[in-house]
Amino acid sequence: MAGSGATFDVVVIGAGAAGLMAAATAGARGRRVLVIDHAERPGKKILMSGGGRCNFTNLESGPEHFLSDNPDFCRSALARYTPWEFLALVEGHGIPWVEKAAGQLFCRDSSRDIVTLLERENHAAGTTLWLETRVESVEAMEGGYRLATSAGPVTCESLIVATGGRSAPKMGATGFGYALAEQFGLQVLPTRPALVPFTLDEGLRRQLSELAGVSIPVEVAAGEAAFHEPMLITHRGLSGPAMLQVSGFWEPGEALTIDLLPGEAALDLLREWREDHPTRPLDRLLATRFPRRFARGLAALHGWTGPLQGYSNADLERAAATLAGWRLVPAGTEGWRTAEVTLGGVDTRALSSRTFEVQGQPGLYFIGEVLDVTGQLGGHNFQWAWASGIAAGRHA
Ligand SMILES: Cc1cc2nc3c(=O)[nH]c(=O)nc-3n(C[C@H](O)[C@H](O)[C@H](O)COP(=O)(O)OP(=O)(O)OC[C@H]3O[C@@H](n4cnc5c(N)ncnc54)[C@H](O)[C@@H]3O)c2cc1C
Repeated sequence: MAGSGATFDVVVIGAGAAGLMAAATAGARGRRVLVIDHAERPGKKILMSGGGRCNFTNLESGPEHFLSDNPDFCRSALARYTPWEFLALVEGHGIPWVEKAAGQLFCRDSSRDIVTLLERENHAAGTTLWLETRVESVEAMEGGYRLATSAGPVTCESLIVATGGRSAPKMGATGFGYALAEQFGLQVLPTRPALVPFTLDEGLRRQLSELAGVSIPVEVAAGEAAFHEPMLITHRGLSGPAMLQVSGFWEPGEALTIDLLPGEAALDLLREWREDHPTRPLDRLLATRFPRRFARGLAALHGWTGPLQGYSNADLERAAATLAGWRLVPAGTEGWRTAEVTLGGVDTRALSSRTFEVQGQPGLYFIGEVLDVTGQLGGHNFQWAWASGIAAGRHA
C-alpha cells in the first residue's frame, strides 16, 4: 500500500460519508487524492445507519433542521448541493429507495448500497484509499502539509479533515479531528451526545420496565423545543424518534414534558368518560387510546384506581394535567455508545462557508460531523456530510 514519502494533491483523513464524498469530488476534478482511515473498511457508520437501511437524505433538509452555535453557516453548502442532487446520484447507481416518513429517504435493500456508490465514485475518480492506517502527526509546511502515518510519510497541498464526531466509538470515532483543529488554533465547542435515548433512575426504570417495547405517539418538550413523534419505552429508559430528537435540546437535570394525548383536550376527554362510563376504571378507558399494557402501567404508576364516578373534579384535573404534561426528569442519556451524533465540535466561525477552508490556513479543510453542525433525525446528518464533502471537494 503506502510507499515512503508519497505525495498527493489532496489527503482526506476519514473514509466516512463526508470524506468519501469530498475525495470523489476532488478526484473527479483531476486532483490526485489519498483517503486515510484507521478502520479496516470504509463507511462503517453508513453501514449501521438507519437500522441497516441508511436514511441517506431528507428532501426537506434545510438550515432549520440543524443545531449550531453559528446557525447560518450551513446555508450555503446545503443550498449548493440539495437532497435532490444526492437522490439523482442514488438513482444513477440504480439503487432502489423508499420514502418512509415524509421526506425521509432510505435504501430499500441495504445501507451497503450507499457505501458501494461511494466506492464506485472514488474508483471512477481514481482516488487511493489506505485503510488500517494511523495518522501520527500533521504539520504545515511550505505550500501544504506533511503527515507522519503508520504507512509512512505523506505530503499534500490540501488536507481535508473528515474524522466525524465522538458518537459510536466502536465504529471508529476518535477525538482526532478536534485535536487537529486545536493544533491549528481553531476553537472546539464543547461536545455532547445527541440523538440519544434517555436513561431513568432505578425506581422509575423498574416501574416502567414492564412497559418495555411499548411505542406511542407523544409530543415531548425540553427547553424551547417540542417534537410530535413516537416514544418507545425500553428496558433502560425512553427512546424512539421523539426522545432522540429532543435529546439535543435537553439539559441535564431538566424535566421532559410529555403530552401523551397530543392534539386532544385531556380534561374534556376525562369529563366525557366520567359522564358516559361512570362505573368503568380509568385504565380501561385509557386502553381505548393506548396499548392495554401501557394504559394499565400508567394508571398503576399514578394510582388511578376505582370507577370514574369516584373521581372529583380536582382528581380529573390532576389526571388530565399528567396526561397532557407528564413531567419526568431523566437520569441522563445512554451517552456516546448509542448516540447517533455529536453536538458541538469545531467552531465554524473559522471556516469559509463556501469552501470549508480554514481562514488564514490555506489548504486545511474540516467537513462533516467533526464540525459544530448537528442535524435532526431523519437523514439530515448525511445530507450535511454530502453537502460539506462536495463543497470542500470542489475547492481542495
Ligand atoms: C447508529 C447510527 C445510525 C445513524 N443513522 C443515520 C441515518 O440513518 N441518517 C443520517 O442522516 N445520519 C445517521 N447517523 C449519523 C451519521 O452516521 C453521521 O452524521 C455521519 O456518518 C457523519 O459523517 P462523517 O463523514 O462526518 O463521519 P463518519 O461517517 O463518522 O466518518 C468518520 C471516519 O473517520 C475515521 N476516523 C476517525 N478518527 C480517525 C483517525 N484518528 N484516523 C483515521 N481515521 C479516523 C472513522 O473511522 C470514520 O471512517 C447515524 C449514526 C449512528 C451512530
